[in-house]
Amino acid sequence: MNFSDFNFESSLNEGLDAMGFDKPTPIQEFAIPVIQQGKDLIACAQTGTGKTAAFILPILNKMAKEGQTGLNTLILAPTRELAIQIDQQIQGFAYFLGVSSIPVYGGGDGIAWEQQKKAMEVGAEIIVATPGRLIALLAGGKINFDKLEHLIMDEADRMLDMGFSEDILKIVNYLPKDRQTILFSATMPPKIRQFSKQLLNNPEEISL
Ligand code: AMP
Repeated sequence: MNFSDFNFESSLNEGLDAMGFDKPTPIQEFAIPVIQQGKDLIACAQTGTGKTAAFILPILNKMAKEGQTGLNTLILAPTRELAIQIDQQIQGFAYFLGVSSIPVYGGGDGIAWEQQKKAMEVGAEIIVATPGRLIALLAGGKINFDKLEHLIMDEADRMLDMGFSEDILKIVNYLPKDRQTILFSATMPPKIRQFSKQLLNNPEEISL
């Protein structure tokens, strides 16, 4: 299988070339078509499998195709490091697309806080956030989720282990009910299944 089989927009294919991506990994082969069909998805995949591109690419492609503007996708990640890493991959792919992404995480200084607040007000198509910091920003009431279509939770098992489940449920209350929800996790214990049942609608499943 080749990336050309996904019929991505040419602007996204340019991004793939620029990032040196040649062939999709197994998780990408499975997850990209499922996400392109608009279905919910639970994927059990470790770091290093190409899981980040598996959820970023179909969503960026949809935005490129539909010329979307405004906040379209929320990605939740357990740590500042992972949020930054995901944001950087988006920036790499999105260079030719005119899609922007903002990382939102805690642990920074006061300047980072002010910058994040300002960036949220200016707007972006994608927010990549740690749950605790996003909750703090939501209290300010400045984020408009009306046009949001996709919620992605990355390393969901780690987020639950870190005690973020209540924060995530609070965040979801702000989001449109009619959305696509995608959950990635390195392990699939019963508490993740339980959590998925609350948030996902008839999901497809993959385990690698
Ligand atoms: P991840 O599992 O998302 O943390 O990705 C691990 C690394 O593999 C990252 O540096 C990606 O940029 C890279 N990667 C992911 N998919 C591909 C691919 N299809 N071809 C080449 N590199 C890839």
